[in-house]
Amino acid sequence: MRPIIGVTCGSDVSASNTGGRVYRKNTVGSDYISAIEHAGGAPVVLPIVEDEECISGFIDIIDGLLLSGGGDIDPSFFNEEPISALGSIDPNRDSVEMLLSKAALEQDLPVLAICRGIQVLNVAAGGTLYQDISQHSKETLKHRQSAPGWHASHTIQMEPGSLISEIFGKRTGRVNSFHHQAVRDAADGFYVSARSNDGIIEAIESREYRFMLGVQFHPEMMFQHHPEAANIFAAFVKACQRL
Ligand code: MN
Repeated sequence: MRPIIGVTCGSDVSASNTGGRVYRKNTVGSDYISAIEHAGGAPVVLPIVEDEECISGFIDIIDGLLLSGGGDIDPSFFNEEPISALGSIDPNRDSVEMLLSKAALEQDLPVLAICRGIQVLNVAAGGTLYQDISQHSKETLKHRQSAPGWHASHTIQMEPGSLISEIFGKRTGRVNSFHHQAVRDAADGFYVSARSNDGIIEAIESREYRFMLGVQFHPEMMFQHHPEAANIFAAFVKACQRL
């Protein structure tokens, strides 16, 4: 039986073709769905709800959690005021994903956290972020590539013995990049398992759980072109298999 993978979503507001009425939609990139399906999981999209009981209901039915990409996290979650370079915030999404992440950490549910996801997971576990990578002490590389999503635009150096280096089968790899935020301090119990050559954190993980991996890049856009990216989903879905 395919493990059920809950995929978080964002919201989209449009006013077109609705007679001026604001029409809110829950949306998620179909690449996340395809990547999970291709890796042998059964993806289910978890909508943005308000009731905490709904969230514990989601946790009861899923075998793994995929925290998907999106906008910025409210910096109040890591006790900071917003800097001017902060992007758009979705308070409803923030609260759903923080609750899901905390429940997954408590119950040792496998988590694959992508882009915004690595940031949500790290903050939920008590870590901090750069609200914008201009806050990094050194000049940084281009982390918002203009090349197509499947193209690997910068290098990452992986920690020997880490899950990510095991998945890649090597210590140096190439990934895509579409972010302006990044992990600043990894949460207690987590360690940095990959960095780009400018020192920006590109992956965090924890050995205290069955499968807890955050990546700053987007393997869901790369899995059809790069076997390493497909291997990330394969390893995650395998970890979600019911015993
Ligand atoms: Mn990057």
